[in-house]
Amino acid sequence: MLTIPEISPLKKLKSIAVLTSGGDAPGMNAAIRAVVRYGLAMGAEVHGVMKGYSGLLEGHIQPLHASSVANIIQRGGTILKTDRCEAFFKKSVRKEAANILRRKGIEGLVVIGGDGSFTGAHLMEKENGFPCIGVPGTIDNDIAGTEDTIGFDTAVNTAIDAIDRIRDTASSHDRIFLVEVMGRSSGWIAVQTGIGGGAETVLVPEFKENIQGITRLIDRGVDRGKTSSIIVVAEGYKPGLSQRIADDLSHRGYSPKVCILGHTQRGGTPTAHDRMLASVLGASAVAYLMAGKSGAMVGVQKGRVVLVPFRNVIGKKKDLDQSNLTLARILAS
Ligand code: ADP
Repeated sequence: MLTIPEISPLKKLKSIAVLTSGGDAPGMNAAIRAVVRYGLAMGAEVHGVMKGYSGLLEGHIQPLHASSVANIIQRGGTILKTDRCEAFFKKSVRKEAANILRRKGIEGLVVIGGDGSFTGAHLMEKENGFPCIGVPGTIDNDIAGTEDTIGFDTAVNTAIDAIDRIRDTASSHDRIFLVEVMGRSSGWIAVQTGIGGGAETVLVPEFKENIQGITRLIDRGVDRGKTSSIIVVAEGYKPGLSQRIADDLSHRGYSPKVCILGHTQRGGTPTAHDRMLASVLGASAVAYLMAGKSGAMVGVQKGRVVLVPFRNVIGKKKDLDQSNLTLARILAS
């Protein structure tokens, strides 16, 4: 089980803040709760910044108490709300943001988000000396330096649940279903969903295949007596790919259906795994800040919490293991 690392010596920060930024992910609330309650337990005041960097620039910052985060661990989304903020790309604006935090007496910031949000935090710290720590929150699990991100497990469970339902109708009608799952530029959700949902094949942006190869795979399945199939497609593969494969299969006499799961994967109650991950990472972020650490993300490597410098995270790609794609096909054959 993931545990909070022993971090010492503790330096007392009097006041810290937390914000969520970029795409929301189930479990962000559990992370906010952990930051607030662990921070209070360490003797700090904890502030919540509303609507990511946009709210920070507007000064939407309020003290959070233990009761402010009561009854949120089981809720998807983020009570602090989130946003994308173009203005934060400007150096002068990041300076103003650091000044706003300082004027409120805040000495450190926890940023829960993805690669883009960490880039903003990293630049704000580098340019203005304002301590920031990142907590990886994204359903895509595409952040380098950590094996897991908050929201990924919930998104995969949601997608697998959908596939289980789709399979019922697919087998009743002897149909092929192309199920499109989220993953802007990575196939992590698709691969785990494909294996867990027993899909015939998984199409991911990292390893492109030609459509003919995919239709041949379906033909082979039919030759072996398969009457229904599920193909999982990561949305980032190529826009409209699912429909193109469906059209191709229609021309070969099949009657395929396309099902795009879309934003259903972002919402919903976080799984036990994501609540635990978010609680431990949120608390660890505070502990590191209190120990004078910053400019880094808390992550998970080999089952342990680690602190990874932002420079080893930002803009880096986390490689997907091709062997799991092969495994999905072998297990579905
Ligand atoms: P995520 O954090 O989920 O990757 P985004 O890429 O949309 O989401 O980034 C969220 C926000 O982080 C952006 O709207 C912007 O405010 C800030 N951000 C992203 N990239 C940069 C950058 N290069 N410089 C400064 N701020 C950035």
